[in-house]
Amino acid sequence: MIHKRRLAGETLGIGMTSRGTRDRLVQRLRDHGIRDERVLGAIMQVPRHQFVDEALSSRAYEDTALPIGQSQTISQPWIVARMTEALLDGQALDKVLEVGTGSGYQAAILSHLVKEVYTVERIKELLKIARRRFHTLRLHNVHCKYADGNLGWPSQAPFDGIIVTAASRSIPAALVEQLREGGLLVMPLERGGEQRLIAIRKTAEEPEVTDLGGVIFVPMLSGLE
Ligand code: SAH
Repeated sequence: MIHKRRLAGETLGIGMTSRGTRDRLVQRLRDHGIRDERVLGAIMQVPRHQFVDEALSSRAYEDTALPIGQSQTISQPWIVARMTEALLDGQALDKVLEVGTGSGYQAAILSHLVKEVYTVERIKELLKIARRRFHTLRLHNVHCKYADGNLGWPSQAPFDGIIVTAASRSIPAALVEQLREGGLLVMPLERGGEQRLIAIRKTAEEPEVTDLGGVIFVPMLSGLE
């Protein structure tokens, strides 16, 4: 089977999906300001080509977003690294919630860095494929749910950190609610026709908001597809 051959090629370190290619991506991320070695280590470990359609696998280690079907995209590696770095903020986290499973790549990166990853997706077909990938890669600490991420995952709260990978016009109250005090919510927020990546720290008083720069994400929608 062609697919098996491709995997064999990967272990031999040949072709476009080899370790060498991933190594170059990590170097590029380092050159572009990603500093957390744990995050770079996770990028090195996760085979991004297995999170896109086989026809796109030769482009999987370019620093670019790629289509994953259903009008959605797998985020650019730099943005995945930046958001993960911001979420960890140099700490070790136990329990993290991701909104917008998509291909499953961001969740797979997190699975190497935190104890338990909870991820929700509103498109059933995407979740089905992502679930299969977590199973194949034996990422047993990733838990998935078909749900509207605006509502979070109440039965698993509180979370040490929450990451949203679709752009919202407002900060979902349920997510702040489900964050433990001191925890960070990292998400793209749409404001005046432009998207900003923000980090919100929940405190006993007013939340502290940090602007991490301009980004481009697919929109966060409401309800199930
Ligand atoms: N983290 C993903 C990025 C996927 S793109 C990855 O690594 O591939 C954003 C995803 O957010 C899409 O799959 C989209 O369906 C999903 N999404 C948008 N609004 C949502 C909502 N309200 N609840 C859950 N998922 C949502």
